[in-house]
Amino acid sequence: MFTINALPYDKNALSGFLSENTLSFHHDKHLQTYVDNTNNLAKGTPFEGEDLTTIIKKATGGLFNNAAQVFNHEFYFKCLSADVKAPNGRVKELLLKNFETLENFESEFSKAAVSNFGSGWTWLVQTGDTLKIVNTSNAQNPLTEDLNPILCVDVWEHAYYLDYQNRRADYIKAFLSHINWDFVESNLK
Ligand code: MN
Repeated sequence: MFTINALPYDKNALSGFLSENTLSFHHDKHLQTYVDNTNNLAKGTPFEGEDLTTIIKKATGGLFNNAAQVFNHEFYFKCLSADVKAPNGRVKELLLKNFETLENFESEFSKAAVSNFGSGWTWLVQTGDTLKIVNTSNAQNPLTEDLNPILCVDVWEHAYYLDYQNRRADYIKAFLSHINWDFVESNLK
């Protein structure tokens, strides 16, 4: 049985970036539904009792979609920070190595996220010293391609519509200054 993890910050901690209202709907309603659906769909199948990564790598259809959305959301919420932070340490080194400047990284990440058509996710993935920006659609997730995700942003409209309406670019701009770089660094292999 999967259960929902509490957010790693108060629901009003990101105000100015995401409202308490957005985080309440996104975490307590959308994510809870994906958790409930995953439990219901896995029940009585060989996937019951398996961990999330195994389900994501092996399941298809509704079970894959819901399990991947559980992983994607828990990862996304951990990527967010109440404080405005800058990348540091190894993650900063790798960003500079792969994108030359932090501004270039932000601009490329933003371009990818804004142009990700429909519902999906924009990821930063790592293979060795290589970082790449990858777009996925719907619930798709880099784990199925054996890529290591280190950062993601949710570009489904439910992630930003209450605060930004159709202005996805403004949401992405605010996201880029509220990244929990310590979490990103902790995902490096
Ligand atoms: Mn979402």
